Amino acid sequence: MACRLARGRTARRALSLLHRPPIEPAPSPTASKACLHGAATLLQGDETGVLIDRSGLILPPGAPNTPSSSTARKRTPMEQHLASLVLHRGGPLTVAEFMHDALTHPTHGYYTAKCDVFGARGGFVTSPEISQLFGEAIGVWAVATWQSLGSPSKFKLVELGPGRGTLMADLMRGTQCFTAFQDGLEEVALVEVSAVLRERQLEALRGSPLSLDRVKHYGSLEEIEDGDVPTLYIGHEFLDALPVHQFVKRDDAWREVLVDVADGEEGGEGEEGEEGGEGGGGGDARAFRLVVAPYETFALKTVLPARLRDLDEATRESLDAIEVSPAVIGLASDLARRIQKNGGAAILVDYGQDGPYESSLVAIKDHAFADVLADPGAVDLSAYVDFDAVRSGCEKEGAVMHGPVDQGVLLKALGIDERLQALIGASAGDEGATKRLVDGYKRIVGDGEGEMGVRYKAVCLTKRGCGVAVGFD
Ligand code: SAH
Repeated sequence: MACRLARGRTARRALSLLHRPPIEPAPSPTASKACLHGAATLLQGDETGVLIDRSGLILPPGAPNTPSSSTARKRTPMEQHLASLVLHRGGPLTVAEFMHDALTHPTHGYYTAKCDVFGARGGFVTSPEISQLFGEAIGVWAVATWQSLGSPSKFKLVELGPGRGTLMADLMRGTQCFTAFQDGLEEVALVEVSAVLRERQLEALRGSPLSLDRVKHYGSLEEIEDGDVPTLYIGHEFLDALPVHQFVKRDDAWREVLVDVADGEEGGEGEEGEEGGEGGGGGDARAFRLVVAPYETFALKTVLPARLRDLDEATRESLDAIEVSPAVIGLASDLARRIQKNGGAAILVDYGQDGPYESSLVAIKDHAFADVLADPGAVDLSAYVDFDAVRSGCEKEGAVMHGPVDQGVLLKALGIDERLQALIGASAGDEGATKRLVDGYKRIVGDGEGEMGVRYKAVCLTKRGCGVAVGFD
């Protein structure tokens, strides 16, 4: 598969597999694995082969995360937590474990600890936050899909990772004239890990036609009972927040990339939550570094072969590295199983491509790309979505994945142009309002620099044989 480095990448940064500078979407980085010379020596392994002799972990000269004791700094609470995991584990973490805790640790995680990660003052802006047209278009998808299911008198709506709740609030407002649709809603289930965001979501929905006694929060999709009513699932920028494992090929053998403490000492010099403890590297150096396990990790023996099996031979042979998210594949399977059992459909929108990435994990802070390892918990970590892996997960349960299609194409198929004109008409010559509407429209539909119409893709999961994928023809 095509691999390329991002624009403007410095040689220093290009060294590191995980440290991706500002990039265009959908890249498949390449040269970065060259720096991962961590020749760890297997000391003692359990069946997952995790215990290692850390003295054997070698970084190449000049690698960006080589620690410097002269500028040592204290670990943040999140760094202490992660380092103590390394200590108690007796070996490095997988990239997936690092990502999982950095994003969703109950007190120090990026989504869980920060008050508001969205909007101009947060870390990033999403399509529903840019324009009401986005949530309204997803509302059109929901009503049309519900109609294609025979307008069931009872059904559920599930949103995965609703953020501020803006998409759902716009969807409910946009569909309020479809009374049978809104009356049939047995429950609106919101899958959200952050207590702060749960509050924000309820606040947003308080101003919508949806009565809050039909809204329920869950920590994960698994927590929602299967039940027996058809269900529509919506996930916008949810899949990219799910953890990924990273693997690289070394002398024709696959190896897993792991995250170790940067100072070569066992982590957790202070117990979790304690202040202090040096060894974070120093200055702006990282507390962690990447190493390559010289042995077969558990994920290498399970997650990797399962994904490689699903790829065609040419793609498999062309890869020197690969990123795999069992969480994404498992979610797709769970959605597909539910849809096959009860009817319904899922729409998932995210940045990604229809195939695997060698390495795509990025960190985003204050609307700019940042260092993936540098400040876990304070930066957003996000991996581009391999929609082919979503397809694999979905097809394992017998359901069908439609797409991916470009977000701009989907929104147009869902009537966004007509809705824009109607809103401009309703703004009665208010030039400011018209400009905001048109600017927002362009940003979410356009294909230019900084626009999201092509960078973001959508897929729809339906039941085999009787699913209509509205907007995906
Ligand atoms: N859909 C929203 C927010 C996207 S950000 C929008 O487009 O604006 C990702 C969202 O998923 C956040 O609400 C975050 O708190 C939530 N989230 C991330 N990882 C999660 C997980 N593992 N389980 C549940 N929610 C998660």
